[in-house]
Amino acid sequence: MTPGRAALTGQAEDYLKVIYEIERDGEAAATTAIAERLHIAPASVSGMVRRLARQGLVVVERYRGVRLTPKGRRVALQMIRRHRVLESYLVTRLGYGWDGVHDEAERLEHAASPDLIDRMAAALGDPTVDPHGAPIPRADGTVDDARLPVLNDLAVGEQGRVARMSDRDPALLRYLGELGIRPGVTLRLVDRAPFDGPLTVAVGRARHVIGVTVATRVYIRDDRR
Ligand SMILES: [Zn+2]
Repeated sequence: MTPGRAALTGQAEDYLKVIYEIERDGEAAATTAIAERLHIAPASVSGMVRRLARQGLVVVERYRGVRLTPKGRRVALQMIRRHRVLESYLVTRLGYGWDGVHDEAERLEHAASPDLIDRMAAALGDPTVDPHGAPIPRADGTVDDARLPVLNDLAVGEQGRVARMSDRDPALLRYLGELGIRPGVTLRLVDRAPFDGPLTVAVGRARHVIGVTVATRVYIRDDRR
């Protein structure tokens, strides 16, 4: 077991994961942003942040928020690896739908040992992405986690291949599934109504009209050639 991990509660692990995700978007993680993602009151965040800082897992930048230390980042990536390997296993081996695995993985990730996770990954042939297209950190803690444009960033007439989608909202995943929007599928932006109006998207031969909110949760790979 990694030094420092044994003492961490599941709650602390969730904090580190959330801070990683916020920081990935480029900013230090503000208390309010952490609270929002964990669905808790902002007032309850500061105590845990102080504890994480004492353990050398985060540094607090005054007036800006919290950043992970290299040690904190290692733990966060370990948690993300567990989460994504579990999701992959549940979908590939146990027949779960891609919209039903997130909550299950949220619970299991705190209990699974690193050895179990490595065995699950090996049984799947060490996949590089999870069922939602998110990259799986390797056992050595490295990950290819480039920031990607979203569907809403496309100009009319441009196309892109779906790389990944946010996995937090099962209803959104079901909806996207019904439209045939999944990782690997090529989309073309056919039209965009003015003033942040809906987007018309071509998926194969089908045309779908989708809202801007949905279009910001679908990440694409540039495929503009
Ligand atoms: Zn998930």
